[in-house]
Amino acid sequence: MILYDEQLIERSQAHIDIEDRAYQFGDGIYEVIRVYHGRPFYMNEHLKRLERSAREIRLQIPYSLEKLNALLVELIQQTGLTEGNIYLQISRGTAPRNHAFPKEARPLVIAYPQPSQRPIQELQQGVSTITTKDIRWLRCDIKSLNLLGAALAKQEAVEQGCKEAIFIRDGWVTEGSSTNIFFVREGKIWTHPANHLILHGITRQIALSLAEKLQIPVQLEAIREEKIFEADECFMTSTTMEICPIVRINGQWIGNGKPGPITRQLQQEFEKLIEQF
Ligand code: PLP
Repeated sequence: MILYDEQLIERSQAHIDIEDRAYQFGDGIYEVIRVYHGRPFYMNEHLKRLERSAREIRLQIPYSLEKLNALLVELIQQTGLTEGNIYLQISRGTAPRNHAFPKEARPLVIAYPQPSQRPIQELQQGVSTITTKDIRWLRCDIKSLNLLGAALAKQEAVEQGCKEAIFIRDGWVTEGSSTNIFFVREGKIWTHPANHLILHGITRQIALSLAEKLQIPVQLEAIREEKIFEADECFMTSTTMEICPIVRINGQWIGNGKPGPITRQLQQEFEKLIEQF
């Protein structure tokens, strides 16, 4: 069962036209919403970001966020999704191929469940990563369907046996291909400010509020590529990876090569959020 426009239908009944603009131009936006114990986690924050992405690309969401919220909850219930994600996307719609926006197209909402378990092994042991050039466009704050830059980077990481690729733009660490990146040095957390060069991650925001709760100082400043190995700890955040330690970058260990104490503290607080939720 999937959400298609404003109805729940069987996946086999869904019809995507060859001139759908998501398919031809990547002209659309998306969200990935985590489901724990059958309930969507930080759903309102995801829907607010969806609304912002829509506004930034001048796409009219075809019905209210309240209605979308209710349909997604119904989708979770009807499909019996307990642990996993809801993938949600909105295309600008179908029209004869032309770069300029069509007048007649109605944006198409689709959403479907992706059952998956939490990445326990990675969360416990940490992951290896590489760095790569950030070749993406200059509106990384929009969660758009144009993911070729991210896909190329992730593939490069996978081919080197790594979990994530960390982007470097003009010598500065921006974010991961599908995660936000944090460094810890001398008890202080450093991460790129939420501007046009990174996605304003929901999990990034959760991690920052947990840091505040734990009274860990935060510096919203990018770090230089050459300073990476001065860090004591490194971690990444995302809806699917939660708060995940990074223990190796380009084959070189971070700190002592084990998840660090500040990362661990944040992970424990995040676990509490999931349990309480
Ligand atoms: N940065 C990028 C480029 C992403 O694609 C994602 C998630 O897909 C994130 C960061 C993490 O965002 P969130 O925590 O909202 O999942």
